[in-house]
Amino acid sequence: MGSILDKFEAGKTVLSCEIFPPKKEEEFLGIQSKLDKISEIGPDFISITYGAGGSNAGKAVEIANYAKNSAKLEVVSHITSVGFTKEKLDEGLAKFKEIGIDNVLVLRGDRPKNMTDEEFNSRDFLHASDMAQYIRSAGMDFTMVGACYPHRHPESATDEIDVMNTKIKVDCGCQLLISQLFFDNSYFLRLVDKLHDLGVKVPISAGIMPITSAKQLGTTVTLSGTTVPEELSSIISKYGDDPAQMRKYGVDYAIKQAMELKERGVDGIHLYIMNKPELAEEMFAALR
Ligand code: FAD
Repeated sequence: MGSILDKFEAGKTVLSCEIFPPKKEEEFLGIQSKLDKISEIGPDFISITYGAGGSNAGKAVEIANYAKNSAKLEVVSHITSVGFTKEKLDEGLAKFKEIGIDNVLVLRGDRPKNMTDEEFNSRDFLHASDMAQYIRSAGMDFTMVGACYPHRHPESATDEIDVMNTKIKVDCGCQLLISQLFFDNSYFLRLVDKLHDLGVKVPISAGIMPITSAKQLGTTVTLSGTTVPEELSSIISKYGDDPAQMRKYGVDYAIKQAMELKERGVDGIHLYIMNKPELAEEMFAALR
């Protein structure tokens, strides 16, 4: 089994990036050439998101198949408990195994806009940890990854509760954590310290998103609940109306953020590249 855990060695910063299945059918072929390009750039692994209930949900397996078997990338496939019954999960995991996927990111998932209360509340697994426990106790041979939150998950009342729940995920079988994106490194470093204090020993990768437009930042902050440091907001005020300058300074900010984390000895850096291989190329070149 090709476990991504083998990539995490002492003294190395594991570099990975996230891909999402495109929403439109006509963009699907384009994703294959993007995966080929990413393969040339050579991340340690990529992860492929899953949107429960979305029209592109079925594409996640197809894209994982191409990434793993044609582009020869090491793949982590996301799976969400929202939209999945136990039976559907078993089927989905069997499909992943069939195409050679050994790593899954277990998530509760967010509720899609068109999902009713009844559909949302009737999921078989309440939390990511319940799904991890099920997969582990069924003896399925996957390396499991979980999500963690430098600004705590929006549904958690306190940081302490959120960190305890993250530890539960690890206790239930998650062997690697990948963080939600953040723009202020102190939040991530504090989360890592808290998890270490609780005895969590698995690697923890930092989620970094290069911001290349003012609009992207607005959507990102709404979705992730992260805060925007003064330095980044002044980049937006100065260059928000100038796409070329905005891109340059946005990428520079992300490189500076990632370099500082690398110097602090973080286990890994996971880039949210919005399906843009050129962002991974620039960022990885700087980090290597
Ligand atoms: P959980 O771990 O279940 O946590 C949700 C809430 O419940 C938190 O407040 C947590 O503190 C609490 N909690 C957790 N475990 C327990 C427990 N055992 N007992 C009591 N309370 C508990 N969404 C998608 O739809 N598709 C994707 O592909 C996707 N990829 C993502 C990748 C990363 C790296 C990250 C950080 C997020 C991703 N998301 C994705 C978003 C994610 O689904 C949402 O943030 C979702 O709201 C929470 O998912 P989770 O797995 O962290 O949930």
